[in-house]
Amino acid sequence: MMRNFWSESRGRGSLGLVCARSWLLVALTFSGAMSSVAQEPALEAAPVALALEARGAALAQAVELERLRADLSALAAPEMEGRRSGEGMARARAFLVERFRALGLKPAGAGESYAQPIPMASGEGFEGENLLALLEGRDDALRAEVIVLSAHYDHLGRQGEAIFRGADDNASGVAVMLELARLFSREGARPRRSILFAAFDAEERGLLGSKYFVHAPTIPLEKIALDLNLDMLGRRMLDLVEGAVFAQGWEHSVELVELVRAAGAQEKLRVHFVATDVTGARSDFAPFLWSGKPALFLSSSEHPDYHRPSDVPERIQWEELHARARLAARVLSALVEADAAPSFRDAAPHPVELETLRDLVDALLPHAEKLGLGRAEEFGLRALRARAALLLEKGGYDAATRESLMKVVRRAMSALR
Ligand SMILES: [Zn+2]
Repeated sequence: MMRNFWSESRGRGSLGLVCARSWLLVALTFSGAMSSVAQEPALEAAPVALALEARGAALAQAVELERLRADLSALAAPEMEGRRSGEGMARARAFLVERFRALGLKPAGAGESYAQPIPMASGEGFEGENLLALLEGRDDALRAEVIVLSAHYDHLGRQGEAIFRGADDNASGVAVMLELARLFSREGARPRRSILFAAFDAEERGLLGSKYFVHAPTIPLEKIALDLNLDMLGRRMLDLVEGAVFAQGWEHSVELVELVRAAGAQEKLRVHFVATDVTGARSDFAPFLWSGKPALFLSSSEHPDYHRPSDVPERIQWEELHARARLAARVLSALVEADAAPSFRDAAPHPVELETLRDLVDALLPHAEKLGLGRAEEFGLRALRARAALLLEKGGYDAATRESLMKVVRRAMSALR
């Protein structure tokens, strides 16, 4: 996952404290403004529902934790040197290409190869390469439609003796992608739509790999139905929020909400729905959204080892990674099997954000002390939760209400970092 503008250097020092104070101020200021109940937004044309199906359940059952563990550990091994450049990066690429080849996937990069060179950053001593492999669908009519399953394989390399191994960021997402590639390409499991497995490079350099792919797609963009992007699936938010997965991108394709929630329920995972504008566009799904393509981003969110040499396999929560991989299998299966591909609309307020707010505050408040929250911050969080609960009950979650609420949420987020 890429850093965003407010996580750049903001620790829990004095700056964090200042933010917490002003956040509380904003919380109190806006709590009055939000109590006026506005009208329901106009209904849009209802998108076709996406449902879980039996194939997805069987695929989820077949996800093997030991394979996830082996692939994650291989990609995050010291020999891969943090997957940024040089020999370590060459080893990571060879590892991925060999896996694509062994699964019999069709090269979908430049020429007859799996690799798509990224010329965007040439001249900076950097040679990027997306690795792309296609699994052709079984359905004559739907085969032309492609669901992209993406995960970036690059990380931060090394600084002196320190290797940034990127076990969670994003060996975890790549390991899940490889396991799903294995399962979906098995005899009898072939999907209706085609799947493009995309290991994007240079995500940490500003989403360069995915930006370039969308700019110069090796498969015509109009054939791409959705990007399902996996980035950081093996830890817990702040090391605290158990059994959760975060979803973004759904705000442009509302039918994804029920689908992902249902998949989460099957795997005993709480899905937190956060619209992309709340955090900023921080992973490879964003360039797809920017070009009007549906996209869904799944992540277990940030933790104290994020972008540090301490992001190592030993700190992965394996059972939760396994559950998130099974969830991804169910969601991917529903997407490739459905009669209709997801719709795309402009982002609009959705009450599921209020549920997320309520549930996240409930998950974090018991840890107020560990989080270093003072009484004021704790009170601010409670006020935020009460506001969300009231809006859920009374309705009226419109654009203006959302805007004022999200100001508070952003302040709260900086206080928690
Ligand atoms: Zn990252």
